[in-house]
Amino acid sequence: MRRIYLDHSATTPVDPQVAELMMTYFLEYYGNPSSVHFFGRQVRKALEEARSQVASLINANPAEITFTSGGTEADNLAIQGAARARSKKGKHLITTAIEHHAVLDTMEFLAKNGYELTILPVDEEGIISVEELKKAIRPDTILISVMHANNEVGSIQPVEEIGKIAREKDILFHVDAVQSLGKLPIDVKAMNVDLLTVSSHKIYGPKGVGALYVRKGVKISPLVFGGSQERKLRSGTENAPGIIGFGKACELAGQRMEEENKELVRLRDKLMDGIISRIDKVKINGPLGDKRLPNNVNVSINFVEGESLLLSLDMLGIAASSGSACTSGSLDPSHVLLAMGLSHEVAHGSLRLSLGRHNTEEDIDYVLQELPKIVDRLREMSPLYHKAN
Ligand SMILES: *Cc1c(COP(=O)(O)O)cnc(C)c1O
Repeated sequence: MRRIYLDHSATTPVDPQVAELMMTYFLEYYGNPSSVHFFGRQVRKALEEARSQVASLINANPAEITFTSGGTEADNLAIQGAARARSKKGKHLITTAIEHHAVLDTMEFLAKNGYELTILPVDEEGIISVEELKKAIRPDTILISVMHANNEVGSIQPVEEIGKIAREKDILFHVDAVQSLGKLPIDVKAMNVDLLTVSSHKIYGPKGVGALYVRKGVKISPLVFGGSQERKLRSGTENAPGIIGFGKACELAGQRMEEENKELVRLRDKLMDGIISRIDKVKINGPLGDKRLPNNVNVSINFVEGESLLLSLDMLGIAASSGSACTSGSLDPSHVLLAMGLSHEVAHGSLRLSLGRHNTEEDIDYVLQELPKIVDRLREMSPLYHKAN
């Protein structure tokens, strides 16, 4: 059966060059990087090379990169670490309504434990207002956390502007850049960022590895104590094969980004235009043009359930995701779509198609051929659709 993967915002396949390199560090150079003997030294060398490769993709210095178990841990380390290190200075935190749960839930945990939290709203395109942010800043604000690009609707935030404001007021600025890494140019210096989260498995590296950029001179508290690895900021024997794979994935992303993005944008726009012209009563969620990630398509299709859509697509070999998250047995519509002002019903009928390196024109043609048929069939079964027409 033909299989088309359109869920690259959830995770990506590991690049064969990355996998091959990692094998060496499972089978041959398996030493502990803290060991002084040959086996350890070989791994240490490769680990530091990986640190340079990650740093280079975001214009950081290698010493500013701390490896973690992924984007989630890096978000937690940034936010909890900053909150703890600065708690004497103030207890007010600012974030946005469309953050990943790794940020939102960490913020809400802190808000239940003595901190105060402002959650900024977004407009109908999923973008925050810098003016609203300025108004939210207080004398006791210690941290602002705003994602670079959203994982559901692909909206890109004005991080440079926010960075400037935060730096002027001496407020720490954290950016979750998991979705933008390798897709948008990232320059931590130009962006005035203090803390920046990246993850390996969204850019064709292995799962379970990520990193936090911590600007030189910025002090945050560790979450994990032990053997003093990663300059005491993240103890525990390093996941060497994973980190080395992540480094390689960053190097490849840097080389391929420009060319790859042109093709992604072309396929993305063909898919969006095709859906709009072939299916009635659909709405594109998120901004158009260059305020949107090159690989993100998100549409609400009225009178169909996102989950039914996903199951039907899956039966035809098409892997996508919906705007509902199945938590504890009930289907909650996406907090991102709700924050953008969508009704529960419309949010439930939403579909995310996220493109990647290996998608082809034929993949898009196949989706455009099958999706309208599925929608017709599901709408045939919907009493609401018949009533409205
Ligand atoms: C995937 C993702 C994360 C979590 O990263 P993991 O490496 O899976 O823990 C955090 N933020 C955003 C925006 C993401 O898309």
